[in-house]
Amino acid sequence: MATDETRMYKTFIISIVMVIALILSGMFFAISIVTRQLIEEEVVIHARALFDSILLTREWNARHGGVYVEKKEGVESNPYLENPDIKTIDGKIYTKRNPAMMTRKISEYSERKGLFKFHLSSLTPVNPNNRPDEFEGKTLNLFKKGVKEVFREEQINNRTFFRYMAPLDVKEECLTCHVKLGYKLGAVRGGISISFDIEDIRSKVKSYTFFIILFGIVTALLLAALIYFFMWKLIKKISRMRQHLEDMSITDMLTGIFNRRYVMSRFIEEFKKAKRLARGLSCIMIDMDHFKDINDKYGHLVGDAALREVSGRIKNAVRIYDVPGRYGGEEFLIVLPDTDLADAAALAERIRLRVKDISAEDVSITISLGVTCLQEKDNSVDDMIKKADTALYQAKAAGRDRVEWLTA
Ligand code: GH3
Ligand code: MG
Ligand code: MG
Repeated sequence: MATDETRMYKTFIISIVMVIALILSGMFFAISIVTRQLIEEEVVIHARALFDSILLTREWNARHGGVYVEKKEGVESNPYLENPDIKTIDGKIYTKRNPAMMTRKISEYSERKGLFKFHLSSLTPVNPNNRPDEFEGKTLNLFKKGVKEVFREEQINNRTFFRYMAPLDVKEECLTCHVKLGYKLGAVRGGISISFDIEDIRSKVKSYTFFIILFGIVTALLLAALIYFFMWKLIKKISRMRQHLEDMSITDMLTGIFNRRYVMSRFIEEFKKAKRLARGLSCIMIDMDHFKDINDKYGHLVGDAALREVSGRIKNAVRIYDVPGRYGGEEFLIVLPDTDLADAAALAERIRLRVKDISAEDVSITISLGVTCLQEKDNSVDDMIKKADTALYQAKAAGRDRVEWLTA
């Protein structure tokens, strides 16, 4: 295969393979991004559910005007409530847990269990414990502007935490206790922030993404190799077939040497070149002697074999850059670039002798040859062919099995 063509096919295959690899990588990249997004959405949904359950707990508490827990060891009274303690007739003391206190207590309980943590905060806290941290402060200011929820990830002690915060609206049940503090229905008094550890999910997402990308790369490489292999095989096959067709189009079927069309096209080419560069050019016209007799005597198959044998001998006698071809039935034409008349005539004589060698006892195979060379007055290959034909006719007329030449 020509190197230019090989390079072109290679570029073509590599481009296709690269496009496919790129599409596949893009697909796997998109899959990993979508997966990440889905997991992030899941985390937000989880945070919202936690927030809602805290809100429900607070609402339930507020609707009952607070709940009482037995004041055992370690259970302190809420200092922000008026008369938080009550005594039962059997002498036990119960202390009131309002929604704020209950929220804090559940958070402490959950944190101890390593679950999630939530924190009630306000820009104007009654209890200093409810002062916002940096995230909560920023978020509470956003709530004032109408934002309904805020979340972000935070790095705490080398672990990733998810922080979520939503506002606490003043509801009817809040007013029972908080009306004195100037609370108005529907106003945002603060918010509850929830935080939980997502380090495990994060590392799972990371390893999942790594595997998706690895799988993507391996798939793309495998596919690329397969496509390269099969395309290369296909292209080689097509190339071989094309070469075969090309060979067939310039070859004479019976003798295996060049056909008339190819010899003539090369003759025209060499003629132009010789004229332009003022180089020598000769040609030899060959005709088998009394070939009709061979056919008649031994049959066409023997005739064909004789044609093949003569062709082979002609081919072996010429140089690599000479162009020998079958011109007609039992006629041959040899184009000899860069060759003067004397060399052409010498070659013709050699061919004549080699062909004569084929002859067996009862079969005589001889040829007559007409030689000519390019002259200034020759305007086309036809002029040269005419001269070679005339020389050939002279050889036949002079008794066959000989070489004649014509210059002018
Ligand atoms: P001359 O010496 O005057 O050239 O005599 P010749 O018999 O060779 O000339 P003629 O032109 O009378 O006959 C040429 C013969 O070549 C006629 C034809 O049957 C035979 N021929 C042409 N092509 C083929 C071929 O492909 N195979 C065979 N077997 N014979 C062929
Ligand atoms: Mg003939
Ligand atoms: Mg003949």
